[in-house]
Amino acid sequence: MNVPAVQRLIAELRQSGITDEKVLEAIAAVDRERFVAPPFAERAWDNTALPISFGQTISQPLVVASMTEALRVGPRMKVLEIGTGSGYQAAVLAKLARRVYSIERFKPLSREAERRLVDLGIYNVVCDVGDGSKGWPSQAPFDRIIVTAAAEERPQALIDQLAVGGILVVPVGRDPTSQVLERIIKSENGLQRDTLMPVRFVPLVIGALPVLGQG
Ligand code: SAH
Repeated sequence: MNVPAVQRLIAELRQSGITDEKVLEAIAAVDRERFVAPPFAERAWDNTALPISFGQTISQPLVVASMTEALRVGPRMKVLEIGTGSGYQAAVLAKLARRVYSIERFKPLSREAERRLVDLGIYNVVCDVGDGSKGWPSQAPFDRIIVTAAAEERPQALIDQLAVGGILVVPVGRDPTSQVLERIIKSENGLQRDTLMPVRFVPLVIGALPVLGQG
């Protein structure tokens, strides 16, 4: 790994307010270069979102760090991620959780992410292809759920699959210029919701896959 570039990014994340050492360690331990296309390898440690295939993006490291920190993941937890994409966020979560379940609607992206994670020696991520807005009922409940695409509305199926004491972090907003990151905490008394920060994500697409993505 490019050690000076890693250190620079970690310093930048600290300056931007990330304080959870475990999150910073996880980010420093996952080689982001392996998750971006070769032409972008030089920029892999920049604090910027980068393109992956199918018009999707690997999120900005600060957003990955903020969402991961907001999720308060512990080592015995079972985490669900919606939107595997490159598998980068799943890899970061895998360093902190017991097991990560990740759903992606584009099969080639899912397969590629799966292979990449195994190549990196990460074996506690289980990938599946499908519409993640429905969650993963056979594996529910989850201690933590993270959605890495913007939902137009708070996804009820995911709230239902959250364990009591569980946390859901989800970008919400119809308009890409006014999305906010929301955290929903489920307790015995109901749901507590707070708004964390403005974000910009590709949309969470509900429903059937286009033929293109099934290859
Ligand atoms: N977490 C990824 C980045 C996610 S980009 C990473 O670390 O690289 C958002 C991803 O969500 C895209 O790959 C997109 O195809 C996927 N997506 C959008 N709607 C979805 C849905 N309903 N179910 C599953 N995946 C979805």
